[in-house]
Amino acid sequence: MKKRLTLLGSTGSIGDSTLDVVARHPERFEVHALTAHRNGEKLVAQCLKFQPDVAVVGDADTAASVELQLRAAGSATQVAYGQEALVEVAKSAGCDTVVAAIVGAAGLAPTLAAAMAGKRILLANKEALVMSGAIFMDAVHDHGATLLPVDSEHNAIFQCLPREVASGGAPLHGGVAKIILTASGGPFRTRDPATLTDVTPDEACKHPNWVMGRKISVDSATMMNKGLEVIEAHWLFDLPGERIDVLIHPQSVIHSLVSYADGSVLAQLGNPDMRTPIAHALAFPERVDSGVPQLDLAQVASLSFEKPDYERFPCLALAMQALAAGGIASAALNAANEVAVEAFLTRRIAFTTIAETVAAVLDALPNRTPNGLSDVLDADAAARRAALDFIAARPAAGRRLGSAGSADR
Ligand code: NAD
Ligand code: MG
Repeated sequence: MKKRLTLLGSTGSIGDSTLDVVARHPERFEVHALTAHRNGEKLVAQCLKFQPDVAVVGDADTAASVELQLRAAGSATQVAYGQEALVEVAKSAGCDTVVAAIVGAAGLAPTLAAAMAGKRILLANKEALVMSGAIFMDAVHDHGATLLPVDSEHNAIFQCLPREVASGGAPLHGGVAKIILTASGGPFRTRDPATLTDVTPDEACKHPNWVMGRKISVDSATMMNKGLEVIEAHWLFDLPGERIDVLIHPQSVIHSLVSYADGSVLAQLGNPDMRTPIAHALAFPERVDSGVPQLDLAQVASLSFEKPDYERFPCLALAMQALAAGGIASAALNAANEVAVEAFLTRRIAFTTIAETVAAVLDALPNRTPNGLSDVLDADAAARRAALDFIAARPAAGRRLGSAGSADR
């Protein structure tokens, strides 16, 4: 039987890669729903190609324009908008599989709804899991949902763990010593740290190996992305932070590794192209063509590794501290980071102020154990306010960047 997909965040980078794989296998996959925030034009093109039952956008104006274009083209796709419509298509009986590819906290409600509806969830939206941790994993287990990681590192680990352990069907046995998340180190791995205050959003988004959305690209440049991934791995694989290592591997060919008690280390390798983990999760447990060329190791020639530099990348250390602190600290870290990255991308703060903002918010907010989703959402809101206050109290940086902003756009 064909899998019926809801693709949350279809107009983004993961959305594009997912639809590329889906288009290669029309006999396997059908699209129930596609969603976008504001990019109505791209969504219309996707709808005309994949003919979903429903298309969801962020606001009424975009919905009206998408609807007009679809009707003019003779499409029967229904158009809806807003958070409730996202939740609706995520839990709809019209789909069995939900690809969670919205960026940031905005993806939490529909992804959680998919878990509570017992769907097969292909998780790219790591922020949702970082925020809600135990609540999300409990929803998956209590409602019989299946969680398949799409993030390349977690997908690699999933592939290297025994099948019953990877799918949460058995506890992680003592045979697994550690998991090792690889990290490219991003565009600033070797840049003089003294010059990091001056980097521009475009420089930060120029990742050496991957083409991604702007938020995750900045996270890769600060290495907050790897920090969020350590927290993501903790929840997905039920491992304490001490058994999750980070290893810099600039070529991004080894996507992560599992180290076993007997000294064996299993790794998953491939060209850095998200269509591989997406195709793996879409077809699991089968394997299908993803469109990614076979890896040519002779061409790669050499692979190198180094330890992460926590002074150059304070965000990585902050994320590990938040994981160790538990409670609402990870939700606060994520929210402060989202606000700070947005402020950096709109040139209101310097690159290095991202880590300062997150550190200040974690210091200022009292930690506690969340009693449910509303506590997580409260922590998220409080951290956003604290981050905005911290940024507002830094007018000098704002002026300096404001004048630099017009020069190199
Ligand atoms: P992107 O910015 O390219 O796309 C984001 C998508 O989410 C778009 O479709 C956008 O319309 C939608 N969206 C944005 N804000 C929204 C809102 N408020 N409400 C509803 N929809 C909204 O991002 P991306 O690079 O595709 O990343 C998506 C997620 O996948 C992120 O959580 C990221 O961390 C994760 N991820 C991405 C990659 C990658 O290679 N791009 C790899 C691993 C994990
Ligand atoms: Mg990743």
